[in-house]
Amino acid sequence: MLDADFFRRWMTATAASVDREAERLTALDSPIGDADHGSNLQRGFTAVVAAVGQEAPDTPGAVLILAGRQLISTVGGASGPLYGTLLRRTGKALGDAAEVSEERFAEALRTGVDAVMQLGGAAPGDKTMIDALVPAVDALGESFGAARVAAEQGAEATTPLQARKGRASYLGERSIGHQDPGATSSALLIAGLEQAAGGGDE
Ligand code: ADP
Ligand code: MG
Repeated sequence: MLDADFFRRWMTATAASVDREAERLTALDSPIGDADHGSNLQRGFTAVVAAVGQEAPDTPGAVLILAGRQLISTVGGASGPLYGTLLRRTGKALGDAAEVSEERFAEALRTGVDAVMQLGGAAPGDKTMIDALVPAVDALGESFGAARVAAEQGAEATTPLQARKGRASYLGERSIGHQDPGATSSALLIAGLEQAAGGGDE
């Protein structure tokens, strides 16, 4: 079972990998964006860790709702509302249970990913964070490790795609040949689950 502490560790692990990979995320956002994705998420997840530490929410749902709210208010850009919606809607779907099974979490995360697709209008293959999140949710029933691999492969598979949503879509065919920054950061978020569970590398 996954408790509030697991979800706190998920946010802390994600913040650490966003910090470590911030330059790479910004570099990916340079040819097909405006070179702010790493700094956007760094600001956001720093605020998430601070708020979760300070307010100490005591259910999984409350941790994710608070985290989502922080991302919406601090990240800005396209990715802030999208990541914020992902975590908030996932948290809402978990209700006020003190502990949730991995199956229930997988269902809740699917609700969150669906909300991101509805908000941003992106479908798989549009070269966005959805290309990492959808395969990750599909693999989550198997294990956190399988979800991490699926997200990483999904992110890498965005390289040959032409962007149809977000800033990169303004480039048309010139968006081809670059890995999507948001899909790359989504793979970090999903990898954080395995780290929170005590596997993978921190
Ligand atoms: P901005 O594009 O406003 O500068 P960021 O650089 O923080 O915002 O985030 C860019 C990422 O957001 C993209 O790489 C893409 O993955 C994601 N993104 C942009 N628009 C959408 C959308 N409509 N649906 C899903 N993801 C999107
Ligand atoms: Mg950007």
